[in-house]
Amino acid sequence: MNISHEPKVFESRLGRVRAIMAEKNVDALILSVGHDLPYLTGYQAMPLERLTLLIVPRDGTTSMLIPRLEAPRVVDMPSVFTLVPWSETDDPVAMAARLIGGARTIAVGDQMWARFLVELLAHLPSATYTRAVDIVGPLRRVKDAAEIAALQRASAAVDRIAAQLHAGDIALIGCTEAQVSAELSARIIAEGHDKVNFAIVAAGENAASPHHHAGSRVIREGEIVLCDFGGTMAGYCSDITRCVYVGDIPADIADAYAVLKSAQATGVAAGKIGVSCESIDAATREVIVAGGYGEYFVHRTGHGIGMEEHEDPYIVQGNATLLEAGHAYSVEPGIYVPGKWGMRLEDIVVATTSGPLSLNNTSHELVSVVA
Ligand code: ZN
Ligand code: ZN
Ligand code: ZN
Repeated sequence: MNISHEPKVFESRLGRVRAIMAEKNVDALILSVGHDLPYLTGYQAMPLERLTLLIVPRDGTTSMLIPRLEAPRVVDMPSVFTLVPWSETDDPVAMAARLIGGARTIAVGDQMWARFLVELLAHLPSATYTRAVDIVGPLRRVKDAAEIAALQRASAAVDRIAAQLHAGDIALIGCTEAQVSAELSARIIAEGHDKVNFAIVAAGENAASPHHHAGSRVIREGEIVLCDFGGTMAGYCSDITRCVYVGDIPADIADAYAVLKSAQATGVAAGKIGVSCESIDAATREVIVAGGYGEYFVHRTGHGIGMEEHEDPYIVQGNATLLEAGHAYSVEPGIYVPGKWGMRLEDIVVATTSGPLSLNNTSHELVSVVA
């Protein structure tokens, strides 16, 4: 993967991390696999059985303990961290314990393997353990200009694929969902992503299952096809949903879609700084309820997006988090009538001081295609 390696960016992020550690009385932050590590160092560890561990003391040098064979993959930034490679016969957990030293409160990354934490407990039995998400999470939620630009590039790439779908450039009739999913995946890479995260293709009654797994069902004329796809480009994710109708759109589908489209636009417009995340969900849901489809909108309105395809802030009832400039999230209401059909419309939105900025701008219509 291809994250930027600007030491200044990481120095600044680590500085803010340390300020929050001081506020919360945390002596050391330890991060292993997962996305907090690349956010703070530019290095994404593979989810191996060998320990990779970033140790950030509140004061003093940040160390990255790393299996010697993985060290060549790290872009060394001496002003950000010191690389501490361990060899096959070393005990990396004992080395980690020495680097952590006398820290009394240790914040642990959510995705560190339980095995390593259990082993570490034996070395540092008197320490108190908390979750690193309380320290790194608030920073990761607020995207800086470079991160927004990265999200914009990834979103523009899937926008182009959605436009190709609308234009009838992607064969549907007679193809299986799995074939269309493979075609979308190939285009995700062709448009510049490093990796495909998902390419949901659901035809007809299958579209009523929001996370349907594309399978052997053959797409026919006279049905809706829901496509929800995205990937990771230079460390940041894209995620878009568009539906097309194969052939002429019947009146009942057109009516439901008009409600969906209006709900989605209302949700996007609701994303003003200072409103709660749950109020965006409520604004979206209200339109669908008023349209008579409330019982068929069975999931939250959206999720945050950044280095991970789903992250904070979640656009869901019960999340009172207030929207800040730099929050990036999806607005993706859906209507799912079991056994019949389903539809969803999704854009990625960034909250800015001048209002919500939609990163996806491909037509929001239910386009009729014969392809
Ligand atoms: Zn989803
Ligand atoms: Zn999606
Ligand atoms: Zn999504």
